[in-house]
Amino acid sequence: MYQTDKERMTEKITAFSKYGDLGNGGITRLSLSEADLAARADFKQRAEALGMAVVSDDIGNIYATLPGEDAGLKRIVVGSHADSVRSGGNYDGIYGVLSGLEAAETIVTEKIPHRHPLTVMIWTNEEGARFEPAMMSSGIVLGKFEKEKMRAVVETGGAVTFGEALDASGWVGDAKNRLNQDDYCAYFEPHIEQGPVLEEEDLQIGVVGGVVGMVNYDIILEGVSSHAGTTPQSYRKDALRAAAKTILELWDKLGALDSKLVFTTGEILCKPNIHTIVPGYVKFTLDARHQDMGVLAQVVEAIENLPKDVYGCRLSYEEHWGRKTIGFDETLLGYVEGAAKALGYTCKRMYSGSGHDAQYVSEMLPSVMLFIPSKDGLSHTVVEYSSPDQIWEGANVLLNAVLEADKAL
Ligand SMILES: [Zn+2]
Repeated sequence: MYQTDKERMTEKITAFSKYGDLGNGGITRLSLSEADLAARADFKQRAEALGMAVVSDDIGNIYATLPGEDAGLKRIVVGSHADSVRSGGNYDGIYGVLSGLEAAETIVTEKIPHRHPLTVMIWTNEEGARFEPAMMSSGIVLGKFEKEKMRAVVETGGAVTFGEALDASGWVGDAKNRLNQDDYCAYFEPHIEQGPVLEEEDLQIGVVGGVVGMVNYDIILEGVSSHAGTTPQSYRKDALRAAAKTILELWDKLGALDSKLVFTTGEILCKPNIHTIVPGYVKFTLDARHQDMGVLAQVVEAIENLPKDVYGCRLSYEEHWGRKTIGFDETLLGYVEGAAKALGYTCKRMYSGSGHDAQYVSEMLPSVMLFIPSKDGLSHTVVEYSSPDQIWEGANVLLNAVLEADKAL
């Protein structure tokens, strides 16, 4: 089994943690910001120093390619993102990019023979923290979003459009460079777990079988706004009271379904939201995720069966968003699992509860993800952390899984 260089891998993470450094251990590296552009420039320089050819496509996705022995073969690609959320950490996204770069560097410095070209790529604007939605550019490449509509998206809290930021970035390349089936044969995305399971179970590697499906509903209670002092309790149609009862009922009902189901009410809109007025209108969200779409169908059924009248308030609901469970490629999963086991690492198959570019790419290319542990399961925060051993072990699994794919595909 081949091994990457632990010190070199750590240096990469440390070096990139300076781009957008908040001085408190975390970063804010919004897509196409100055910090993001600095990270991209460093990536390009490092890739070119390894003899990789660097190009970009029309939405600023970057592709750095190391030639293989057989130029006629399709490329194997490792990808993730370099942007972060506001007050994010040093591992989400960039870990996938830098472990790919470390795998390439190991191949170059150890002169490891490989037939396929190897590409390491950066997806533009994965987080959607500056320009909504998340996974914007993989979504454009896979035909989920229209490019012109996305170019017109205005940054959150500002005035610059995605198109303007892109044009000013210097990274607008040729659309023919986009990830495609003719030039690429397999996609790997290493990532931090962003949850507590690997650490809790004392495992080194998560072999990610897919991304869980989800449903997202708005549930609305309509009562009557009235005076908090003059309306006797028995006359009230209090939408917030009705919402509170409904939320607790949902917790009971959904909690009795499969134990792997996760569900969240994270947003409540209360009108008029004035302390002297009985609330007349409440809308709250329900986000539920599970790998088995059958369980999600039970969630939908529970929502559909909610009483339509709660304490005199009218209940209605709307499906806001949803996605089907995505399964990754079994052959590639086998390479990741095989590499982890051959390296002597403990691992298990698991599903991702959060979205990643790989979920779109999987519709175009055989795709797979692997996870490394996140300390305390925390991500999208400045305390996000994976140890030098953990980031190195993930890079080792990636390198060997890529080389296995190189032999077999
Ligand atoms: Zn990410």
